[in-house]
Amino acid sequence: MKSLEELTRPNIWSLAPYSSARNEYSGHAAHVFLDANENPYNKPLNRYPDPLQEDVKAKLSVVKRVSPEQIFLGNGSDEAIDLPYRCFCRPGIDNVVAIEPTYGMYKVCADINDVEYRPVLLDENYQITAEKLLKATDENTKFIWICSPNNPTGNNINRDEIIKLIDSFDGLVIVDEAYSDFSSQKPLRDELDRHPNMIVLNTFSKAWGCAAIRLGMAFASKDIISIFNKVKYPYNVNSLTQKQALEALKDPYEVDKWVKIILQERLRMIQAFKDLPICEKVYNTDANFFLAKMKDAQKTYDYLVDKGIIVRNRTRISLCGNCLRITIGTKSENQDLLAALRDL
Ligand SMILES: *Cc1c(COP(=O)(O)O)cnc(C)c1O
Repeated sequence: MKSLEELTRPNIWSLAPYSSARNEYSGHAAHVFLDANENPYNKPLNRYPDPLQEDVKAKLSVVKRVSPEQIFLGNGSDEAIDLPYRCFCRPGIDNVVAIEPTYGMYKVCADINDVEYRPVLLDENYQITAEKLLKATDENTKFIWICSPNNPTGNNINRDEIIKLIDSFDGLVIVDEAYSDFSSQKPLRDELDRHPNMIVLNTFSKAWGCAAIRLGMAFASKDIISIFNKVKYPYNVNSLTQKQALEALKDPYEVDKWVKIILQERLRMIQAFKDLPICEKVYNTDANFFLAKMKDAQKTYDYLVDKGIIVRNRTRISLCGNCLRITIGTKSENQDLLAALRDL
């Protein structure tokens, strides 16, 4: 692996972070806060939130089996996807490599940051080799995007190939494990200490059922997390979100229960789709959604919209011709979808 100094943009490497009022007294027990020009009334919303979200990280550290210094929290995964571009990629010079098809935000953030995005097509089984991805890199490739389980295909990317990639690439590999709670495969997050060039993303938006609070996570070496902390907005995660995250973390078993029901429903839905005459194929999935190849995806999509049922039409995405992406809902929502499709 190249040194972090080589991988980081020079202006970011030499950046002195903004020092907030709350950073400066740290360590002392204080009870009168007249340092941040806050209004003394309207407690508790009058106070700025903890810039490093230490209470949330302490709890999360136990659930995710990583140390608090290896955690970055942001305004959704969106922030954790954008930040690596801002930290590592010189606009107009550096590039990144990604599997294709995959989650659209990686390219949106590349475009916004004026960073060349190099998609590498998956094979017909939606898999890829480390070798094929490495071939697309050059000396200005700062990181490679892997999404596993992948969106919109739903499958896990071969774990041994991901590890081979991480071990042989001299830049960073970012593994988005937004859907790993629904997967039977061991998360790459568990190998954090063995791979200093790996960044793993997780989110509160899927298995944790908290898309509304906008809380995303990145796990990486302490040194990478320090760079993120230097570049992020000082108060990037608001107090209401931190409070709600602590609430959710009190009961991780609730999440396990949801996941279990969703997985049962996933099995039932896949079986039912396979029996539909308008469905040609259902792809293997390790996520809370599945990709189905239809005889005519656009027609089925329009029909469902008419009935007030919205699925995702992925027909124009590479390798996803005539595919719909179906999220697993509650039993009754799933039943509504099946009933509508059986009527077609
Ligand atoms: C849904 C999803 C996320 C979550 O994004 P948030 O900004 O945290 O809501 C991240 N990555 C992938 C691949 C997703 O599909």
